[in-house]
Amino acid sequence: MRTNYHTHTRRCGHAGGTEADYVQAAMQAGVSVLGFTDHCPLPDWEGLSCFRMPLAELPAYFAAVEEEARKHAGKIRIWKSVEVEYMPQYRDFLERLYTDYHVDYLLLGQHFFDHHGTRAFVSSTQDTELLPAYARSIREALRTGLFQMVAHPDLFGMRPYAWDRNCDLARDIILDAIAEMGAILEWNANGIRRGVQSFPDGDRVPYPHPRFWDPVPGSGIPVVVGSDCHSPDVLWDEAVDRSYGILQSMGIQPMAALDLG
Ligand SMILES: [Zn+2]
Ligand SMILES: [Zn+2]
Repeated sequence: MRTNYHTHTRRCGHAGGTEADYVQAAMQAGVSVLGFTDHCPLPDWEGLSCFRMPLAELPAYFAAVEEEARKHAGKIRIWKSVEVEYMPQYRDFLERLYTDYHVDYLLLGQHFFDHHGTRAFVSSTQDTELLPAYARSIREALRTGLFQMVAHPDLFGMRPYAWDRNCDLARDIILDAIAEMGAILEWNANGIRRGVQSFPDGDRVPYPHPRFWDPVPGSGIPVVVGSDCHSPDVLWDEAVDRSYGILQSMGIQPMAALDLG
């Protein structure tokens, strides 16, 4: 059974394809469960983060996903969600995504995190010093109970530093929090799509980082493969196939269907 719980649309400004385009691509690829998780706009972020739809567009996005779900009911299961960061000041807003928009789940994509009142961006860290704080922000997010799944926790593998003790510590905090809260860990195929590059700790894809995944087999932590597709062409591509192959060789059996009610 083919499933994907991490899908972006052109609304975010750096992806192509409408909701309808993705549903067509999914049905063509034999994907029977498709979760839409475009980047969520956040209150007071207008202009600060260019990689997401404006806040005013959010209702239209959810309506478009609902429309696709209605149109194709019985043929493909469509889940309505967003990929979003957690910071304490957004807790009420995130709760309203459930009460006002009835999202099926929330995907934590902690690109930004709160560090002593400022926004730190994990994709621009120059060294590993902030990674434990990044990991603690993921733990804090999961402990709200608002998130079912953690996207690309090892996104920092794209930065030009080698894996070190801070990375170990960050990994352990994240995996412990996922286990504690019964959340799901995402293996992100978009990192595979970026291809092998040279890093101070060797030639590898930017993420998923092998050191992050070392303790996962046998841990009992549920894993999904997220396509993190930014174009309908790659919803199910070689990177997704390779992801399943790598996980299998690691002894990890990814979850297929999630029980989202
Ligand atoms: Zn994106
Ligand atoms: Zn992301």
